[in-house]
Amino acid sequence: MHEIAIAHDIISIIEETLISFPDRSLKTACVSIGEMVAVVPALLQHAYDSLISGTHLDGSKLEITIIPISAVCNSCQKTFGLSEYEFCCPACQSVHIKVKTGNELYVKELIVE
Ligand SMILES: [Zn+2]
Repeated sequence: MHEIAIAHDIISIIEETLISFPDRSLKTACVSIGEMVAVVPALLQHAYDSLISGTHLDGSKLEITIIPISAVCNSCQKTFGLSEYEFCCPACQSVHIKVKTGNELYVKELIVE
């Protein structure tokens, strides 16, 4: 259940950002999470809802965007999508690849009112 730890991190980021806007209340927090972080969106949503319950963030929504894994091949420079357990280039079968996306975890946007 690393979703609880991730929800904690997301809430810390939200709190830090909202310090500058004390008279606004949060409607929606849009977060982007790489596929390799292996988050179950429903569990993250649930963890977020439980953690904000009774706080000033209570009632806000979490909008989760999963970013697929992509990689670039060091041998032929091709960029391609990756499934989690196939770490080789589909064009030249090289295993010298570098992951480009899929590791991220950040708050993309906060919608306040
Ligand atoms: Zn290649």
